[in-house]
Amino acid sequence: MVYDTRIMKADGEAVAEAARLLKSGEVVAIPTETVYGLAANAFDENAVGRIFQAKGRPQDNPLIVHISRLEMLYDLAAEIPDYALKCAEVFWSGPLTMIFPKTDKVPYVTSGGLDTVGVRFPASAAARAIIDACGFPLAAPSANLSGSPSPTSAMHVYDDLKGRIPCIIDGGSCAVGVESTVIAFEEDGVRLLRPGFISAEELEDVVGKVYIDKGVTSQLPENIKAASPGMKYKHYSPKADITIFRGSADEYREYAKTLGKDLWCMVFDDGDMNGLDLPHICYGKTSEEQAKLLFDTLRELDKRGAKKVLARCPDTNGVGLAVYNRLLRAAAFRVVGNDE
Ligand code: AMP
Ligand code: MG
Repeated sequence: MVYDTRIMKADGEAVAEAARLLKSGEVVAIPTETVYGLAANAFDENAVGRIFQAKGRPQDNPLIVHISRLEMLYDLAAEIPDYALKCAEVFWSGPLTMIFPKTDKVPYVTSGGLDTVGVRFPASAAARAIIDACGFPLAAPSANLSGSPSPTSAMHVYDDLKGRIPCIIDGGSCAVGVESTVIAFEEDGVRLLRPGFISAEELEDVVGKVYIDKGVTSQLPENIKAASPGMKYKHYSPKADITIFRGSADEYREYAKTLGKDLWCMVFDDGDMNGLDLPHICYGKTSEEQAKLLFDTLRELDKRGAKKVLARCPDTNGVGLAVYNRLLRAAAFRVVGNDE
């Protein structure tokens, strides 16, 4: 089916139209504070199947289920550890996804065949209004074509999914810009499966012990079962070949000069170029700015026809770990320069 994809500004009428489509088993792209999500009724196998179809997403890559009231969690999670309620109190509504054993109500299509389900309570008012108007939780992965950078504006969604979905609700550009932090519970704390805006440091203050999963900063061997299945796939990739350079601005420029004229530089700010005569894009000085700009920058590089890119390595503290985690995957784990 080919749709005439509509973009609607996120007002009351758009919320009602999104809910009407979602109730009839359709998918709708919705804004959240992290990235745009491609939503469907989490309890409806056929509707959820359409998400996988529209994105070209592998069936074993689980979806995050979004709620707008804490009571909704009890329909989804079969067990809720005390730590989870503590995290919910501090970080919800917000960009934190928690993994629970799933109830029978959650179809295996939604959980990617797993016995667990990831649940998030978004802060975005538009997202919450749409979930409220539906009255059921929404399964929603990022609203991009599988493998490409996540969408942080309605136009990014349109570029990827026009003709494949009926409607995009436009809530402007996403405040956070990278996907949610994903955690699972352990006896004595939590395991960070995917870094996001809620940092390991912040989690530590609430739950004590935070184990960082190996998959966060290293490439998982092909045959290993990933704790966070999304991390094993080729991800966030622009068409350009990206390499990350670790080192000072001076060292970056010296190295960039050796790579030739067709190189694009992905730097923090104009100052990094300091006279270096190569095309460049700035992706922000602070980790928060970089989180917000990263995916747009990756898409912009494609638009401008970049083939070869050298990116300055972000700081990896706080939300910087999320930026580094996404950039590493976009760069297929190519890192050069100084050791850590
Ligand atoms: P996306 O919304 O496109 O970022 O994809 C959701 C990601 O959340 C998946 O790719 C997984 O990495 C993670 N996730 C969702 N549900 C689970 C789960 N039950 N167990 C582990 N990771 C999950
Ligand atoms: Mg995604």
